[in-house]
Amino acid sequence: MSFYKSTAWRHKRERVLKRDNYICQECTRYGKSTPATTVHHIEPLKDKPKLRLEGNNLVSLCDKCHERMHNRDTNTLTPLGVEWVRRKNGGRRKEGI
Ligand SMILES: [Zn+2]
Repeated sequence: MSFYKSTAWRHKRERVLKRDNYICQECTRYGKSTPATTVHHIEPLKDKPKLRLEGNNLVSLCDKCHERMHNRDTNTLTPLGVEWVRRKNGGRRKEGI
């Protein structure tokens, strides 16, 4: 069975959306309130399967921002996607200081 169809994922996904108030967490960095429609694996499922249900590896996004995290041609993260990995692993340091 596909991971994305599993009960564990569906429950986790719902909890992450609720945690993030159903708002896109990329848009909110820029003061925009866009409804979140998807939950993104910051470190991709294929790279870090152990983190597939870790709350801090999951973030609510709108479709548009989610598309901006993935390079569909190369099946890798975009620089923006990589930035989220770095921020997750580096804590919440302020940028540019
Ligand atoms: Zn967004």
